[in-house]
Amino acid sequence: MPEEVFDDITYLASLICGTPIALISLVDRERQWFKSRVGLEAAETHRDLAFCAHAILDPDELLIVEDAQDDDRFADNDLVHDGVVRFYAGAPLQTGEGTALGTICVIDQQPRELDEHQLKALDALSRQVMGQLELRKAFHDLEHYQSRLESYQVQLEASNQELAILGRRDGLTSLANRQAFDERLDDEMHRARKSGRPLCLVMVDVDHFKQYNDSYGHSAGDDVLIEIAEHLSEIGRADDFVARYGGEEFAVILPETPIEGAAVLAERIRRRIAGHSWVHRDVTISVGLAQMRNEDLTPRDLLSRADAALYHAKAKGRNCVVESSSGAATY
Ligand code: GH3
Ligand code: MG
Ligand code: MG
Repeated sequence: MPEEVFDDITYLASLICGTPIALISLVDRERQWFKSRVGLEAAETHRDLAFCAHAILDPDELLIVEDAQDDDRFADNDLVHDGVVRFYAGAPLQTGEGTALGTICVIDQQPRELDEHQLKALDALSRQVMGQLELRKAFHDLEHYQSRLESYQVQLEASNQELAILGRRDGLTSLANRQAFDERLDDEMHRARKSGRPLCLVMVDVDHFKQYNDSYGHSAGDDVLIEIAEHLSEIGRADDFVARYGGEEFAVILPETPIEGAAVLAERIRRRIAGHSWVHRDVTISVGLAQMRNEDLTPRDLLSRADAALYHAKAKGRNCVVESSSGAATY
């Protein structure tokens, strides 16, 4: 916001009152400094020298000193001694709360009087100054508020992103969760339908896991799930998508992969889990495989084929891989 408004006001004050000096003075604990000045070089003075410091003692009244040399309060003031101030009239700049921040004042090197109109005008100008100061403060507060709002918004977006990521991850294993899996399967099947390339789905279920929990505790069971998740993530290609499908079930989407390739990978996974040296006892998994190739399946179709194959793997005695094709499981 332009500051010339204040210079306009001091110019008017000096013109109306017929004084060579007019100032808008803001007073703090140590000093007074001039927001705008006409006819004076100094930009600030010590507070002890400030007539304005006197003027603000009574925020409701103008301070008029017609001849400072005849005034006990100011006769000893250096500015009076030096002849800088002889006449002083100051109107306090009063805030809405009734405190005074400083004054608008007019000064002359010779004694003077102001008539009623001049006094009224000085009072009116003090309200104009205050209005401008408050406008600036409101504007500044608004800017500050706006920039804080913007920084909150940035933070909010970041935490929303984090939440979105967290909302798609399983808390225990850090794998993609069921929701993320469903979305990805939809996407990948859509892509496979368009490209005509094969896609496979691998369903993994831990064998006799209830028993494992019962024997070694739920937390030991959790450790097994975490470790299986790690094995699943390490095996396979970058495009493969591993998810925790449910409690002790995992699913892997293999894009651009025919059932023969999926079978090799599934067998590798099965052997790796079975061959791992687990803390308490052997852990095995059963695996069901299904593929979509040159046919129009829904995700639900593909999932139920993989599920059926998994069911057969369990029935077959567990710790094995079973493929499903065209809805019929083959052993
Ligand atoms: P099956 O070989 O037929 O799959 O037998 P199972 O015992 O693995 O199958 P069932 O479905 O009866 O039991 C699954 C068990 O997995 C029961 C449940 O307590 C356990 N489970 C599911 N989620 C978690 C988990 O987050 N942590 C642990 N520790 N156990 C879990
Ligand atoms: Mg299960
Ligand atoms: Mg199980």
